[in-house]
Amino acid sequence: MGLVGWGFPSAHRHANGRIASPVAPLPAASRLSDAIGLMRERGLRASAARRLVLEALLVADGPMSAEQIAQGIGGRVPSSDIGSVYRNLQALEEIGLVRHVHLGHGPGLHALAVTGEQEYLTCERCGDYRAVDPHQLDAVRKLIGRQFGYLASFAHFPIVGLCASCARAVGERRNSFHRPR
Ligand SMILES: [Zn+2]
Ligand SMILES: [Zn+2]
Repeated sequence: MGLVGWGFPSAHRHANGRIASPVAPLPAASRLSDAIGLMRERGLRASAARRLVLEALLVADGPMSAEQIAQGIGGRVPSSDIGSVYRNLQALEEIGLVRHVHLGHGPGLHALAVTGEQEYLTCERCGDYRAVDPHQLDAVRKLIGRQFGYLASFAHFPIVGLCASCARAVGERRNSFHRPR
C-alpha cells in the first residue's frame, strides 16, 4: 500500500486515475504526527529517537544516508546517535514506513515510503539521480521480461548510466579524440 493522501505536496491521484490539482502541503508538524500515527498503528512505539528519524526524513530533499540523518540533515533537525539511527531505520523499514535505495558506491539511502513506490535512474559520472514513477519504466520492464524472463525493479537498485549532460560531454570528448589532425 502506498501511503499517499496524507498531505504531501505531490499531485494527488483520484481512484478513477485522473490527477487532481496538487494538494496544499500540511504544516510539517501535522505531517510528522501523521507519520507517528502510522508508526504506532503498525506496532512501533513512538520513541523520541524514532520521531527524530521521521522528522529528518520529512525535511530531507531526497533519499538520505544514516549518517546524514544522524547529523540532522545538515543541521535542519537535531542530530542523533548513529547506532540508534541504524536500528530505527531498520525497524521503520520492517513496518514499511521507510525504504532504501543504493545510488552510486555509497551506503544505502533512506526515504519515507509516503509517495508510493519510486524507482530511480542515476549517473555514474556525476552522481545525479532522478526518482520516477514506476509506470514510466514499465516499457523497459516489459522488454526485459520478454527478452530475459526477469521481472526488473529499479527501486532498490537504480538504472545506472550517464545523465544527458554527461552523455553529451563524453560524446564531445570522444569526438575530439577521434578527429583527424
Ligand atoms: Zn539494500
Ligand atoms: Zn551526469
